[in-house]
Amino acid sequence: MAKTLLDESIYHYILSVSLREPELLQQLRQETAQMPMGIMQIAPEQGQFMALLVQLIQAKKTLEVGVFTGYSSLSVALALPADGQMIACDVSEEYTAIARKYWQQAGVAGKIDLRIAPALETLDRLLAEGQASSFDFAFIDADKGNYPNYYERSLQLLRPGGLMAIDNVLWSGKVADPQVQDETTQAIRDFNQTLHQDQRVSLSLVAIADGLTLAMKRG
Ligand code: CA
Repeated sequence: MAKTLLDESIYHYILSVSLREPELLQQLRQETAQMPMGIMQIAPEQGQFMALLVQLIQAKKTLEVGVFTGYSSLSVALALPADGQMIACDVSEEYTAIARKYWQQAGVAGKIDLRIAPALETLDRLLAEGQASSFDFAFIDADKGNYPNYYERSLQLLRPGGLMAIDNVLWSGKVADPQVQDETTQAIRDFNQTLHQDQRVSLSLVAIADGLTLAMKRG
């Protein structure tokens, strides 16, 4: 079962009446779940939610920081129009090989430009190339200590009205437990507090899956 902060019966009910998971995504989710780091993939209802967001804002040009085995990128890419594109950042050839296999099977490989490098380097390069204010949507789901850096660069890359979605902001509920004081939990707490004060964005922290903050760049 996917990670959820909800009561289990409510979670199963939500899935039973709302999840519309394409077969390829289901296969990818099952293949990934068998891997040691399988817990890192996003929940299926979250993939569907992000696909809805992408359709809602009619996104064409998107960014992903943290691909892993590709569940989120595949969910988003399937929701993009035929001329949609994604720049996808990850450091792992091994995990993204699985992602690439599914992108190809789903017919969306042509939409996705995978950059194997530290994401900060890729984001800085995009900015240096003059791609600021050109992205419609960005999904941030990588090393949590770098969230402030990913956030600042992605905010520059988004157009006004563009949307950023940042994953794991509830960190299995640890952010709300004062007994938990490890470095990653504290980094996410600090990040959440910083965004709360950031008037450059309209904000909502959505309690889906492991917590997903939505931040829309104000004009
Ligand atoms: Ca995540």
